[in-house]
Amino acid sequence: MRIANLDGRAVLLTDGGAVDIHQASGGTLSPDPQTLFDQWPQTLPVLRGLAGESSTYPETDAYRETDLRAPVPRPGQIFAIGVNYREHAEEAGLEPSTWPMTFTKFASCLTGPNVTVDLPEGWVDWEVELVVVIGRAGHRIPAVDAWEHLAGLTIGQDLSERIGQWSGPAPQQFSLGKSHPGFGPTGPAVVTPDELADPADLAISCTLNGETMQDGRTGDMIFGIPELIAHLSSITVLRPGDLIFTGTPAGIGSTRTPPRFLSSGDELISTIEGLGTQTLSFRAAHNS
Ligand code: ZN
Repeated sequence: MRIANLDGRAVLLTDGGAVDIHQASGGTLSPDPQTLFDQWPQTLPVLRGLAGESSTYPETDAYRETDLRAPVPRPGQIFAIGVNYREHAEEAGLEPSTWPMTFTKFASCLTGPNVTVDLPEGWVDWEVELVVVIGRAGHRIPAVDAWEHLAGLTIGQDLSERIGQWSGPAPQQFSLGKSHPGFGPTGPAVVTPDELADPADLAISCTLNGETMQDGRTGDMIFGIPELIAHLSSITVLRPGDLIFTGTPAGIGSTRTPPRFLSSGDELISTIEGLGTQTLSFRAAHNS
């Protein structure tokens, strides 16, 4: 199943169309996308029953991709993992992690998959990432049980303003530098793992104005999804609707020679095998 947020309403995406989950369930399931995940896994059997429905929104098969919003719009917690691919550690001049380096993106930065992001002053960089959506609460989840605690996977861009990120005394301001408005594009949909041949190893890439910047595989993560869920839940309680940004492969802008950052008019397309595509554009939101 591909669960999306179409202009504020929870939908199942079909081939070219969308099923309104509240309508199709006869009012059993909430129209609010966040509530759908908050009530996971109780919502799952009803959703499975709807998966064969034909499109009911907005009375035709067509919908505008720019009407897609963040599929999980108000998560209780957002975890993000740094330096989780070896080649990215190398390009950043950092040792590969021996312990998942963790920060947050504040929830107010979340936005949809096909939007125009306002660029603040500074150096704004891209980081395409696989995002895990938690579906079942847990504390001290063994890695072997981790997939049962997952509702699905989606695409995220961990947009990062590097001057702010690296400012101040160590540890630097990762959470703030990565939480400007619009810095957390997610979607187009939360895809349940059964839709994917191998959800642990997906091609992940992004292009800037048609030029490939990042091109990796999620199977190359230093800490895979089971290890991240086990590690995070060894400390915190994971709850349905929580997000985990799992880190970015090599090819970010700040480690290029010369460094490259996003500017007004750029188009950034992010793709993960089986999860779809995000198309972001950018405009300057400051005077300089
Ligand atoms: Zn990141």
